Amino acid sequence: NISYEEYTGGESVKVALRVRPMNNLERSRGDEYCVKCSGDSIQLNLKGQQKNYKFNYVLDENTSQSECFLNCNVGELLESALDGYSATIFAYGQTGSGKTYTMAGVEEKLGREVYISDETEGIIPRAVRYLWQAMAQREEQFYVKASFTEIYNEQIRDLLNPASGILHCRWNVKNGFFVEDLMIVECTNVDDMIAVLHEGMKNRKTGAHELNKDSSRSHSILTVYLISELVSGEQTMKRYGKLSFVDLAGSERLKESKSHGDMIKETGNINKSLFTLGKVIQSLSDKKAKMPYVPYRDSKLTMLLMDSLGGTAKALMIACISPSGVYYDETLSTMNYAARTM
Ligand code: ADP
Ligand code: MG
Repeated sequence: NISYEEYTGGESVKVALRVRPMNNLERSRGDEYCVKCSGDSIQLNLKGQQKNYKFNYVLDENTSQSECFLNCNVGELLESALDGYSATIFAYGQTGSGKTYTMAGVEEKLGREVYISDETEGIIPRAVRYLWQAMAQREEQFYVKASFTEIYNEQIRDLLNPASGILHCRWNVKNGFFVEDLMIVECTNVDDMIAVLHEGMKNRKTGAHELNKDSSRSHSILTVYLISELVSGEQTMKRYGKLSFVDLAGSERLKESKSHGDMIKETGNINKSLFTLGKVIQSLSDKKAKMPYVPYRDSKLTMLLMDSLGGTAKALMIACISPSGVYYDETLSTMNYAARTM
């Protein structure tokens, strides 16, 4: 029985800042390159203004997908989940900053299927392979299950079973908050889990199209349940690990010109979730701040992640940015959000 401090090394939330390369459009416009990385520091420069930040990890534009996985110590989070704890990886940032690339990888279309190509695969497929290799080496017997949900405008949908419509978030003593009628599928190997990832990503896209909504405004949560049993003599020790991979909605603020009706409500809700998430994580990482209470119930996202934020749970927040000066304001706000999270 080790203490929480010992287990987490005193740090339960780690923050990474990832800069993506400039894209063709940014290059062809001749956008100003406004970030400079060195070690765990990053400097934001624009028109003579300078801001300096430090994060647990800084990943510059040359950081490959495998380096991202290794440098952010994702393996440590996975081991923790295999040990029966909860761990969460978030991708935060404005639309187009590299959240989905970081979590899943490049989405390519083959016919109507969405799939992730091998070279560019992100954290999730790498994590899935890591998990099965690690499980094979452990003594415990593992049962793995997965679910994939989406939160859009504070409404929860099942990305593995879109026909079920809007699902409800319930609470009981045994489970805490949970999604009622959510499809949870058993995965017996790497391919099963990759199929879950692809199915959910495909449904996130087609669902957005059919319901005429913008998928960049939704949060997606892929949850992996790692149930283990270790038999020793008469006793069986059962542990319940949980891993959540969260591709957050774009953090950009609504442009003035679009500010009407549903758009306002939608943006309000997205910002509410991101804002609440920020407050929740902040209250957990800054133990000295001693918030009177942690506002989990202020958003669906934090309700569903409640058991994964706090206690012995660990989290990694990867904040993604573009290096182009055109997005300076958004980048600044992402850096400030990430810095507050530490
Ligand atoms: P988001 O999910 O934040 O909206 P995406 O992950 O879809 O952004 O990234 C936007 C585009 O930039 C995609 O075409 C993606 O392939 C590309 N991209 C993002 N990050 C990187 C990176 N680190 N290296 C190369 N291409 C990237
Ligand atoms: Mg995306």
